[in-house]
Amino acid sequence: MNSFPKVIKNKKISRNWILQNKFRGKTIAFVPTMGYLHKGHLALVEKANKLADLTVVSIYVNPTQFGPNEDFQEYPRNLDQDLEKLATFNVDLVFTPSDKEMYSEGFVTTIHVDKLTAPLCGARRPGHFDGVTTIVSKLFNIINPDFAVFGEKDFQQLAVIKRMVKDLDFNLKIESCPTIRESDGLALSSRNQYLTGKQRKEAPVIVKALRRVKELVAQKQITTPSEVETRAKNIIKQNSNCAKIDYIQCLSADNLHEVNNFENSTVLAAAVFFGKTRLIDNIKLT
Ligand code: AMP
Repeated sequence: MNSFPKVIKNKKISRNWILQNKFRGKTIAFVPTMGYLHKGHLALVEKANKLADLTVVSIYVNPTQFGPNEDFQEYPRNLDQDLEKLATFNVDLVFTPSDKEMYSEGFVTTIHVDKLTAPLCGARRPGHFDGVTTIVSKLFNIINPDFAVFGEKDFQQLAVIKRMVKDLDFNLKIESCPTIRESDGLALSSRNQYLTGKQRKEAPVIVKALRRVKELVAQKQITTPSEVETRAKNIIKQNSNCAKIDYIQCLSADNLHEVNNFENSTVLAAAVFFGKTRLIDNIKLT
């Protein structure tokens, strides 16, 4: 068992701690999170441990990436439980800023990544990715990591951040981790705890549909992306009373463009509501 990590709320103090360590030649891997940590987050921490000398985790529920009718207020928070979980890994610093620390009075700057933010979650959650890219840029500037680790569950977010790092010349390398799942296939998410018993029972229908159509594509029983989308939607509708599909869409993994045939890397991405809880998942088809 490792000890509880050092927790710093103040960005100046965090920056000084990081500068001192960098001066000593230490490399830093960074895992940004919104807390309420689960095994998906911890897989990123494990990867960060392997990448660099020091691991820094941030826990911050960023208000600017939530829409006015979204779950910012209700988003689950439990710092003590998070620190307990992180204590079983080698985490050198946990950065837990307040809103005031991150958004000083008069804050008016936004980082906007064009095009890649147009489809999927970007189309359904206006302003969401501007909030994400702005806060992630700020965190990169404060932590100054050599590596930053993100989950493939948030497939569009990962593509957007990679593009931003390239376009803005952030001096760091983005690494990613595959999606960690429950034993019934449901992708781990801090939002899973909102689900009622019945919704939780039905939620694995998302991954079931994604995996089934992947099989059908491999067997050449489905030959076009539009058939994939229709079949996946039908599987979800037939197997759940409470699922409400937000989107199910095939895209090119490289540029997130719509695809008419299976290119080298086609991804099927899904967002499905169970009551007010919106869950996302994706699978690589080819
Ligand atoms: P969040 O706290 O939801 O903002 O997520 C923080 C990071 O954890 C993001 O890079 C997510 O993609 C990643 N993440 C969330 N859930 C999972 C999961 N089930 N498997 C792998 N990574 C995940």
